[in-house]
Amino acid sequence: MTQQVNHLIGGEYCQGSGDQQIAVTNPANNQPIATLNCATEAEVNQAVASAVEAQKAWREVPVSERARVMLRYQQLLKDHHDELATILAKETGKTFADAKGDVWRGIEVAEQAANIGSMMMGETVENVARGIDTYSYTQPLGVCAGITPFNFPAMIPLWMFPLACACGNGFVLKPSEQDPMTPMRLAELFEEAGAPKGLLNVVHGTKEAVDQILHHPEIKAISFVGSVPVGQYIYKTGTENLKRVQAFAGAKNHMVIMPDADKATVINQLVGSSVGAAGQRCMAISVAVFVGNTKEWIPELKQAMAKVRPGLWDDEEAGYGPLINPQSKARVLDIIASGKEEGANCLLDGSDFTVQGYESGNWVGPTLFSGVTKEMRLYKEEIFGPVLCTMEVDTLSEAIELVNASPFGNGTSIFTNSGAAARKYQHEIEVGQVGINVPIPVPLPFFSFTGWKNSFYGDLHAYGKQAIRFYTETKTITARWPESGIVEGQNLTIALK
Ligand code: NAD
Repeated sequence: MTQQVNHLIGGEYCQGSGDQQIAVTNPANNQPIATLNCATEAEVNQAVASAVEAQKAWREVPVSERARVMLRYQQLLKDHHDELATILAKETGKTFADAKGDVWRGIEVAEQAANIGSMMMGETVENVARGIDTYSYTQPLGVCAGITPFNFPAMIPLWMFPLACACGNGFVLKPSEQDPMTPMRLAELFEEAGAPKGLLNVVHGTKEAVDQILHHPEIKAISFVGSVPVGQYIYKTGTENLKRVQAFAGAKNHMVIMPDADKATVINQLVGSSVGAAGQRCMAISVAVFVGNTKEWIPELKQAMAKVRPGLWDDEEAGYGPLINPQSKARVLDIIASGKEEGANCLLDGSDFTVQGYESGNWVGPTLFSGVTKEMRLYKEEIFGPVLCTMEVDTLSEAIELVNASPFGNGTSIFTNSGAAARKYQHEIEVGQVGINVPIPVPLPFFSFTGWKNSFYGDLHAYGKQAIRFYTETKTITARWPESGIVEGQNLTIALK
């Protein structure tokens, strides 16, 4: 018997009556663990209507009370950290430790949402003209929606609905159909924390449900995280329907290794940031750019990568788990084969890796290529697997030129002991998130997640101050309260007098 994944609509859990059924599978053996019925058009409409209704009352709830709901929520998430990580690990295949990290990076955003009073503050200027003051408020938009990917089923939904709701909005979440059980548990805990029924609704499905969200007149803003083609489609369609859209998309992240960097540190950090989570992170390092004689470190990198062994989620020795589905595995194997055909040196090939007793799982072992060039498919496409490409250049300037020519701009890092090299890199690089001796520079929630170029479409990024701007409108008030109660004379000009 597999579990049924419910929708959450208006505070009620329902199986849904859509004809299309989707199996949620264990990526370690592709056996079904749950089933969901895609939401019908009527169910999506009902979810939006519930959010509209709940938001009317919620926007009147004092900001300190909304903050307290978020405070309770972050505590509940911490209390259920292991339970959430177990659900997450089972449906994604991530190792338990990494699943805990996924949940934790979301809890940090819920914590930030408890700070909403300070974050929503507007601006004031007294005496903008004689006896006239101007001040601004941030007010909720109404109902916002989130469409999330498979690779962080806790963190990414938590980038969205706690902050949107803390701002006073209602929310409709359409999580990835591949791992919907973690987001459902997050939603249950949100209600347990005191969020009113109907404020957060969760509908399951694929393109049809997303299309309805994109066209629904009551949805004012859409947060999306996923692949480039879908991100472009969502940004274009959402904005065409006059909605506010932030769309976070694919990536290809480079690490630049300078000759004055510490070799052991570089090798350790490269291994973890390239094959951790089976490379299924939008901030994974997929290209290592060796500057000068650091290319001599590649054989040691190979030895270190070869020691990483994928395994089951509850195997404490496993470095990472399987890929999410057989299509992902086929795509990664195809790109590895293309690399060999195009003339790259495959130093370590994980194509045939498997785990005993789980041969039908989506396993790919750590894979390392050297001699990769810009023209190869290996370099041009986002692989989203445990595959690291190495490239060699002579100078830092050449490395910067290479990275800046990439159409992606999510994250990058430089490993060096030179302040001057680090300063040059951070200043000149055209990438939105830069690590200096930090391989995966995902900012904490008081900053924002600031991908650039084809890794992000929109203006305002996820979490931090930018998210508050994204989920609110600014209302600016200009007020005069003359002591006499009378404003004398006429003013026929535009100037404030
Ligand atoms: P995906 O684009 O396939 O799916 C994302 C969401 O869009 C899912 O909810 C899915 O149901 C929906 N969707 C899929 N096809 C659709 C279509 N044709 N029309 C409308 N909606 C559709 O992405 P994924 O495979 O779940 O996630 C992996 C991708 O996400 C990678 O490219 C990765 O780089 C990216 N990602 C980016 C970031 C970031 O912050 N930039 C973070 C995490 C993941």
